[in-house]
Amino acid sequence: MDIQRIRQDFPILDRTVYGKPLVYLDNGATTQKPRMVVEAITDEYYSVNANVHRGVHYLSQQATELHEGSRETVRRYINARSTSEIIFTRGTTEGINLLVASFGQEFMQEGDEVIISVMEHHSNIVPWQLLQARKGIKIKVVPMNDKGELLLDEYEKLFTERTKIVSIMQVSNVLGTINPIKEMIATAHKHGVPFMVDAAQSIPHMKVDVQDLDADFIVFSAHKVYGPTGIGVVYGKEEWLDRLPPYQGGGEMIKQVSFEKTTFADLPFKFEAGTPDYIGTTAFAKALDYVKGIGIENIAAHEHFLLEYATEQMKEIPGMRIFGEAANKGGVISFLVGDIHHFDMGTLLDRLGIAVRTGHHCAQPLMQRLGVEGTIRASFGMYNTREEVDTLVAGIKRVSQMF
Ligand code: PLP
Repeated sequence: MDIQRIRQDFPILDRTVYGKPLVYLDNGATTQKPRMVVEAITDEYYSVNANVHRGVHYLSQQATELHEGSRETVRRYINARSTSEIIFTRGTTEGINLLVASFGQEFMQEGDEVIISVMEHHSNIVPWQLLQARKGIKIKVVPMNDKGELLLDEYEKLFTERTKIVSIMQVSNVLGTINPIKEMIATAHKHGVPFMVDAAQSIPHMKVDVQDLDADFIVFSAHKVYGPTGIGVVYGKEEWLDRLPPYQGGGEMIKQVSFEKTTFADLPFKFEAGTPDYIGTTAFAKALDYVKGIGIENIAAHEHFLLEYATEQMKEIPGMRIFGEAANKGGVISFLVGDIHHFDMGTLLDRLGIAVRTGHHCAQPLMQRLGVEGTIRASFGMYNTREEVDTLVAGIKRVSQMF
């Protein structure tokens, strides 16, 4: 992998912050965009733009072809069986809300149970709590050990005849833990329970093959995998999606409307009410093609190198506490140094041009489990370099000495 060549595709990486070269280590929050993704947006607005699906005219058909072509690109990327299984959303959060609302309405009654985990992002906790308030469902939580690994024995013990679904992240946005999701899906299926995977942090960093995993649903966001903001995907097995009621009503999602009776469109349109972000989907397909061109295995290997290189050096810093030491871990390092507040560390690193995230990372229950209010998080992308890790480590040392 030629990192310098890759960096040339990301113009933002050349900028400075407070007069220092930008070191962007907040890829867990969002990734930067390669030139072709940004250009796909302007190109389509300048030369194709027309609303999709409904038009007989040339531009509308061309826009529809691009939009539906993007659905095929996503299908291939995650190895879904059919484009009927690919629903475009605004992002992971909307995808989870869609599935919780729809699945909850059809398949969950008072006293029924969902299994989630202690390390979930708020977007995979709060929608279930909203359903709990509406329907009286129960939320059960898989615990973890101090390294940040889910306890699989405890997981298995949570299943009862009231368990209706499991919803767990593949990679933790805080700990970097890569959960053994294939094994966990097999356990759920043994109990006759479907499994929803929050793949927001796995899709950008590792191969995700929905058929190999045998996942019933997966959700992810384009902006975390070098694509535009405002686009996400829900994958669902066709046999499940067929049985789920629509999430939102409106144009595009119907077959026939009358005041007496309305029938719904076939998959995937049943779940796509209103004008979709067809410009965003084209740009997203460009991002996936870009990642494919570099090779997700190459990206994973590079990020793993950065993780190990950074961890080794950071551990030498006096007072360093790293949260998340799972045997199987992705390119995320959450840490605190001595009693330096995460906000102070983040702000001072920023002055050195280093962009990291601080706070609870939308995982407050996990923070409670770790016994901290927040952490500093460095998260790697394909364009980060060994020299940037050196800058980070030097920056942490400098800030630590100031205190
Ligand atoms: N799930 C995980 C694990 C995440 O890291 C994030 C974002 O940080 C989300 C869900 C929510 O994604 P979005 O804000 O794109 O909807």
